[in-house]
Amino acid sequence: MGRVAVIGAGPSGFYAAQALLQADPAVQVDLIDRMPAPFGLVRSGVAPDHQKIKSVVKAYERIAASPGCRFFGNVALGRDVSIDELLARYDQVVLAVGAQTARKMGIPGEDLPGSFSATEFVAWYNGHPDYQDRSFPLDVSDAVVVGVGNVAMDVTRILVSPPERLHPTDITSGALGRLAAGRRERVHVLGRRGPAQAAFTPKELQEIAAIDGVDVRVRDDEAALDPASAAWLEASGDRMARENAEFVASRVGARASTARSEVWLRFCRSPVEILGDDRVRAVRVEKTALIAEGDRIVARGTGVFEEIPAGLVLAAVGYLTVPLPGVPYDEVTGRIPNDGGQVVGPDGPVPDLFVVGWAKRGPTGLIGTNRADSAATVARMLETGARRPADGADPADWLASRVDQLVTWRCWQKVDAAEVARGRDAEKIREKFTAIEEMLGAVRDAE
Ligand code: NAP
Repeated sequence: MGRVAVIGAGPSGFYAAQALLQADPAVQVDLIDRMPAPFGLVRSGVAPDHQKIKSVVKAYERIAASPGCRFFGNVALGRDVSIDELLARYDQVVLAVGAQTARKMGIPGEDLPGSFSATEFVAWYNGHPDYQDRSFPLDVSDAVVVGVGNVAMDVTRILVSPPERLHPTDITSGALGRLAAGRRERVHVLGRRGPAQAAFTPKELQEIAAIDGVDVRVRDDEAALDPASAAWLEASGDRMARENAEFVASRVGARASTARSEVWLRFCRSPVEILGDDRVRAVRVEKTALIAEGDRIVARGTGVFEEIPAGLVLAAVGYLTVPLPGVPYDEVTGRIPNDGGQVVGPDGPVPDLFVVGWAKRGPTGLIGTNRADSAATVARMLETGARRPADGADPADWLASRVDQLVTWRCWQKVDAAEVARGRDAEKIREKFTAIEEMLGAVRDAE
């Protein structure tokens, strides 16, 4: 297979590298990332209190240590190098760029101060350099989270966690300080459909309910299954949906309100407008009714509206891939159009250009889902073969000539060690650098 560039060193990029190395031990795989740090979503997306999920980096470290694998960080496609330049120097190029931007709700008031995407909030508390300037109002009586997927659960959990629960993790101390300085008394989590259609996995909601001082509540009429959902649940036998519906139902009922924070799950509530003058004040929602459309349960507006108070709004309604210069992009799906992983442009399949992960299939599935997905693209790469061999010179020198400071795996190990040492001083797993220049400085200091 010769020489392959994988653009993006997150989960799907590492799994692509692994599949390539397994398919051809003689292949040279260069993992190229715009950040000086690898691991993409595992570093910047997975919640800091989910260290077990983050331990997957051990497997990525083993892949990076393979003789045929190199890491080149601090190189951005579209800024430092172009897709055509990469295709001239590599036999094949794999885009593993994920879905970095948030899907919008598309309702009035969405851009008011105090209204953010969950993507921004997650990236901020995880120390991503691009999001450190966000100023989230965190001392509010009421916050609203839109969506009932696992990202909604992550941000809700972070909003209501006592600081001592988060302190030992790798949440940035800046974010933890801001979270600790304010209190969120109530977090209202809005599902536009019912409990049986919630996208979160049961243990994510149960984890929130298990936090000391947090009360997960639901109203009787919103927990009750409507006839369409009850019939669907019976027919589908979906265990996750059943467990979610049962757990939600178990949260109905009056409780002594000694809780520090309440999480109100609001079902059949579709946001129609974010209200406020100079900052968010409330979310106007429309009550929905559920009906069966084929094998899908869909929400229809009922014309009944309600205002839910909110000093902070976080929309967790999905992600989109960011368009890249010179790379085909589907505006409707927010993905890179492809056929089995080969990128497809207006004139058909683009020779030697492939895609994996969320950029290929959309923002679905768990981290491990990317393994089979990347292997499928690599199978397609083997099948099509490279159209024309890359030119002979090692691209490492060319990459180094394009940036002020190329970050190799050895450089990253220095950043990694410095972050762990900073964390040790603060009795945390690690204290991340939150600026690219800080990471580059840590490499220079160690040399
Ligand atoms: P998701 O699972 O697709 O959930 C998105 C949610 O947003 C759904 O409840 C959806 O409702 C709702 N929604 C979409 N558009 C909306 C709108 N205009 N108004 C109101 N609600 C709207 O997406 P995600 O939470 O971003 O997660 C992405 C993937 O990462 C998932 O596969 C997830 O499991 C995974 N993940 C896993 C973990 C973990 O394992 N701990 C953590 C985070 C993320 P409808 O169903 O009605 O469309």
